[in-house]
Amino acid sequence: MPTLFTKIISGEIPGKIVFKDEHCAALVDIQPQAPTHILLVPRKEIRSVGHATVEDQMLLGHLLLTAAKVARDLGIAENGYRLVINTGKNGGQTVEHLHIHLLGGRALEWPPG
Ligand code: 5GP
Repeated sequence: MPTLFTKIISGEIPGKIVFKDEHCAALVDIQPQAPTHILLVPRKEIRSVGHATVEDQMLLGHLLLTAAKVARDLGIAENGYRLVINTGKNGGQTVEHLHIHLLGGRALEWPPG
C-alpha cells in the first residue's frame, strides 16, 4: 500500500516537489514550522530510521547529502539549518515513511519541545 509521501512523489496527491532523483524527493511540508520546511523522502518505503538496514546505508547517506544540496539551492545554507528525523511515537513521527525534516530561514531554538 503506497504511503502518503509515495503518492505525493508519484503525483497522485498534490504537493510541491523542489527536488527529485532516482532515489529520493524533497517536498515542501504542508504545515511549515519555519520559513523553509522541506521533507527529504526516499522513494523506498522504509517505515522509520529504526526499520532501515545495512542495505540502506548508501541511501541514508544520499538523503543527508541531498538535504545539504537542497539547503544550498534554497539559499538557507549560509545561515544554517536543522535536520530532524522524528522516529516512533515519542519521537513525534506521524507519517510512517522515513523522512528528514530540513528546517531553516530563521534561528531555531534548542532544546526542542
Ligand atoms: P513527522 O511528524 O512524521 O515527523 O512528519 C510528517 C510531516 O508531514 C509533518 O511535518 C506534516 O506537516 C507533513 N505532512 C502531513 N501531511 C502532508 C501532506 O499531505 N503533504 C505534505 N507536503 N506534507 C504533509
